[in-house]
Amino acid sequence: MTDTRTKEAIRYLGFGRKEADQATLDLIAGSFDKLEQAASPRIVWRLFDLKTAGEGRLDIGGMEVESRSLWKNMKGCCQTVVLGATLGAGVDLLMRRQSLTDMAGAVVTQACAAAMLEEYLDEEQEKIGRELEREGKYLRPRFSPGYGDFSIRHQGQILAMLDAPKRIGLSMTDSSMLTPVKSVTAVIGVSTVREPCHRKGCEACGKRDCIYRRNEG
Ligand code: SF4
Repeated sequence: MTDTRTKEAIRYLGFGRKEADQATLDLIAGSFDKLEQAASPRIVWRLFDLKTAGEGRLDIGGMEVESRSLWKNMKGCCQTVVLGATLGAGVDLLMRRQSLTDMAGAVVTQACAAAMLEEYLDEEQEKIGRELEREGKYLRPRFSPGYGDFSIRHQGQILAMLDAPKRIGLSMTDSSMLTPVKSVTAVIGVSTVREPCHRKGCEACGKRDCIYRRNEG
């Protein structure tokens, strides 16, 4: 049976609903093996107070954000988890080396690394969720800068709020790219009202009438 991260890697490779052939599945399995060796995943997160200031405007621990979709999704929330996570510099090195010698393999490794990062984030988000549940707090789906109308320019602020360069070696280049490359920053609304959110976010959630449902714009 194909596991979740393999399914995700197949999807990133653009197979859509088509079945991947055995040769591709073997390449994917080989890439995950290499990535397991190279990766040193790390995460840093902190809770910040959340204030909303009129429609579409939020203040997350002093970071002012204008985003209608984030504002809607965080309606009723009082705090926000702000996080940064990375697979580490070893994965960058592996992808760089592979791209010089084996372009097809490098493309597969890119997709597998993206799937691995997602899987890591899902697992960590579940742990954070369990920790906060003990205090009667519940998580909404996570949102990354660059998603919908949540501007990518907040990435740098998030790194600074978390002291991410020092704590997990995650920073940004002059051209606003995260480094290491296979990394992510995100925010997650925290509410005292239990909303059984889908771990894959609103797009995968069956609650079509949910008032917090996020949208693209
Ligand atoms: S639509 Fe689903 S995933 Fe999105 S906020 Fe509502 S319950 Fe959570």
